[in-house]
Amino acid sequence: MTTSDVQIAIVGAGFSGLGAAIKLKQNGFTDFVIVDRGSDFGGTWRDNTYPGAACDVPSHLYSYSFALNPTWSRSYSHQPEIHRYINGVADTYGVAEHTRFNTEVTRAAWDEESAQWVIDTESNGTKSQIRAAVMVGAVGPLCEPNLPDIKGFNDFDGKIVHSARWDNDYDYAGKRVAVIGTGASAIQVVPQLGKTVGHLDVYQRTAPWIVPRNERPYLKAENWAFKNIPGYQAAARGTIYTASEFVAFGMTYAPKALKPVEGICRATIARAIKSPELREKVTPKFAVGCKRILKSNDWYPTLARDNVELVTDGIASIAPTGIVTADGTARDVDVIVVATGFHVTDSPVFERIVGADGRSLAGVWEEGGMRGYKGSFVHGFPNMMLMVGPSTGLGHTSMVYMIESQLNYLVDYLKTARSGSITRVDVKAEAQQAYTEGIQRKLRRSVWTNGGCASWYKDAHGNITTLWPGFTFDFRRLTRTFDVAAYDVVRGTAQTPGAQTPGTQAPSVPAKV
Ligand code: NAP
Repeated sequence: MTTSDVQIAIVGAGFSGLGAAIKLKQNGFTDFVIVDRGSDFGGTWRDNTYPGAACDVPSHLYSYSFALNPTWSRSYSHQPEIHRYINGVADTYGVAEHTRFNTEVTRAAWDEESAQWVIDTESNGTKSQIRAAVMVGAVGPLCEPNLPDIKGFNDFDGKIVHSARWDNDYDYAGKRVAVIGTGASAIQVVPQLGKTVGHLDVYQRTAPWIVPRNERPYLKAENWAFKNIPGYQAAARGTIYTASEFVAFGMTYAPKALKPVEGICRATIARAIKSPELREKVTPKFAVGCKRILKSNDWYPTLARDNVELVTDGIASIAPTGIVTADGTARDVDVIVVATGFHVTDSPVFERIVGADGRSLAGVWEEGGMRGYKGSFVHGFPNMMLMVGPSTGLGHTSMVYMIESQLNYLVDYLKTARSGSITRVDVKAEAQQAYTEGIQRKLRRSVWTNGGCASWYKDAHGNITTLWPGFTFDFRRLTRTFDVAAYDVVRGTAQTPGAQTPGTQAPSVPAKV
C-alpha cells in the first residue's frame, strides 16, 4: 500500500472542492491533493445527467465570482454547460495535476499522535493512504442517492434508475415508465420523458409549488455586452443576487410575505390545466417556501398529456411487473425512475469520518442531529473543515455564494495557522453550542418550521439542520475571518498547515492517477 504525506487533503472535486483548490493555490498553499471517486470535476453536475437536468438559479449567479463566464448560452444553464464550465475553470487554474480521480475515500480518521488525518482510499481495487495535517470535506450534501423504502422494491423485474445515476445508454422511447417523486429532479426529467416514452405514470406524494421558469437563450449582443462592457455582467449578477435575498427575508422572518408567490403558482396551474380534478391534485397544501420552490414551464402541460397519468394514491408496494397503489390498482411498467432525492442528514459518508475520540460523524450526530460551527468545523474533529456543512443549505439563491464564503474562512484559517504556528484546531464545544442555538432560534419563525410540510431540510427528529436561516451576506460576514478565539489550539512547528514558503511546489503532492 502506498502512503503519501500532504499538508492538505481535499475530498471531493465539485464546486466546493475545486474552489478550495484554487483558493489554496492563489494563497500559496500548494502542498495539497484532491481525491474524487468520479472521473472528472463537477460533483453533482457531473453525476446528474438525466434528460432536462439544469440549474434553477440564473447562470450569471451560479458561477464563481472569480471565474465569471460572459458566454453562458441561456439565462438558466443546463447540466452539460455547467459541467463544461467547471472543467474549464479547473483547466484554467491547473488543478488536475493535484487531483486523483476514480479514488474513493473509504475511511478518514484523526490520528492524535501524528496530528494528522489518515485517509484510506481505494482506486480500482488498489488501496492507498494519504496522511494530511488538514482535511477539507467537500463531498456535498446531494451525493448519496436515496432509494425509497417501499415493500417489494428489490423484486421489480424491470429496470430501476435513480435520477442521479441516469443510464444514458438505455432507450426509454416507447417504454412504459413510472417516475416516483415530484421534487426538483423529477420536474425536470418528467417533461423530457413525457415526450418520448409510450406511457408515463408520475407518482406524487406531495404536490410542490412551481413558479414559471424565466429561461431564454442569450442573444449574441448580450454576450458581447457581458464580455466587453465593464461592470455589465457584475451588475446583472448583483441584480439577481439582490432580488433573491428578498425571498430569504420572507422565508426566514416573514412567511406571510411570500403569499403573492402562491397566487402566481395558482394562476400558472389554472392556465395550464383544464381538469378541475387534476388542478386540485397539483395544488400544494402547505405554505410556499416550506419545500424548495420549483421552476418549470413544462411540468403542468406534461401532466395534462394523454400519455401521462398523475397518480396520487400512495404506493403500497412494488411488484415484479410494476407499482401497486393503496387502493389496490396495479400499473405495470418497464422502467421505474426514482427521483427520490438524497441522503442528506443521514449520509453514509458520515460513518467513514472518525474524530479524535474514535467516534464517527454519524455517531456524534446520531442524537442531536448534524451540528457544527459556521457550517465548517465540528467539535471533536480537529483540523477538518467541511464545505457545505450543517446549516449552510439554501432554498432561494446560489450555493456557490455560500461556498465562496466558506473558502474565505478556509484560507483565513490556514493563514492564521501558518502565521501562528498552529498545528491543531478544534472548535470549542461551547462555541459550537451557542452557534447552533442561535441558528435554531432564527429558524423558529421561518417558513420551513411553520409552513406545514415535511422536507429533506429536516432530520429524523424533525430538526432543521441543513438550512442557513437568513441573508447570505450575513453568512459572508461571519466567515470573513477565522475567529481563533472560538477554537482550542495547539501550537508547534511539525505539521503547521501550509508551513512551506508561499508559492513553492511541495514535492510530496501525488500525481493524478
Ligand atoms: P427531493 O427534493 O428530496 O424530492 C424527492 C421526491 O421524491 C419528493 O417529491 C418526495 O415526496 C418523493 N419521495 C421520496 N420518497 C418517496 C417515497 N417513498 N414514495 C413516494 N415519493 C417519495 O429530491 P430531488 O428532486 O432530487 O431534489 C433534491 C435537491 O437537489 C433539491 O432540493 C435541490 O436542492 C437539488 N436540485 C437542484 C436542482 C436545480 O435546479 N438547482 C435540480 C435538481 C435537484 P415528498 O415531497 O412527499 O417527500
